[in-house]
Amino acid sequence: MSIVTKLSPNFTAGRKNYTPFAIVIHIMDGTLAGTDSWFSNPASKVSAHYGVGQQGEVHQYVKETDSAWHAGRVYTPSWTLIKTSNGQYINPNYYTIGIEHEGKGDTPWTDAMYAASAALVHDIADRWHIPLDRQHVIGHHEIYGAKTCPGTKVDLNKLIALASGHDTGPQQDDDDDDIPQKVKTAGKVTSRSRLNIRSAPDTHKAPVNIVEPGIQLAYDGYVNNGEKINDNSKWYYTDEGSWFWSGGVR
Ligand SMILES: [Zn+2]
Repeated sequence: MSIVTKLSPNFTAGRKNYTPFAIVIHIMDGTLAGTDSWFSNPASKVSAHYGVGQQGEVHQYVKETDSAWHAGRVYTPSWTLIKTSNGQYINPNYYTIGIEHEGKGDTPWTDAMYAASAALVHDIADRWHIPLDRQHVIGHHEIYGAKTCPGTKVDLNKLIALASGHDTGPQQDDDDDDIPQKVKTAGKVTSRSRLNIRSAPDTHKAPVNIVEPGIQLAYDGYVNNGEKINDNSKWYYTDEGSWFWSGGVR
């Protein structure tokens, strides 16, 4: 994956003696450009290791071997793996990796942002041998209960599922079940929100186009075994080779 480095002055060198064993998901409550600027400002005293944009951009602000300042405050934590010592919480910045995401807490996540974040989570988990489950991929509010970060629009189980299935290695999966079985029946649907058009029924493929909400789309058929998103694996296709997820249309 392509990562743009924009190193922040806001970090603690090293991680004491800890190894990162969890990934904390945040929402920027703003734009990627605004976050670049905020994290580059020493006065903000905040950072994260990465920021992911709505078009799938990935920026890196802090090295994974250093402690970013993204989850240092602890308040009524619900995270069961949080570390304590002598009755005090140990600063989670030492043992977590933080990823910010573009938008506000109620901004729907684009497919591109899900895909880029999942690929990043996959790579981080590989590097640090972090299990891909809800104990190890958590929302910021699970550490700092006074916040709602990362908001209501991200489905962490979906992010984890995408990250688990995202194999960047050279091996090909030859399982015949993966070949979409097309049902040829033409029709028209309308995009619910910004909708990614892809070259396959698979969000790991970069979008070839994005259509605005309320656009009528003609299809030539569908498959019921595309990538499953929110328990829905039906994707429409056109004879020209475009694909879009049925959950994104009405
Ligand atoms: Zn946060």
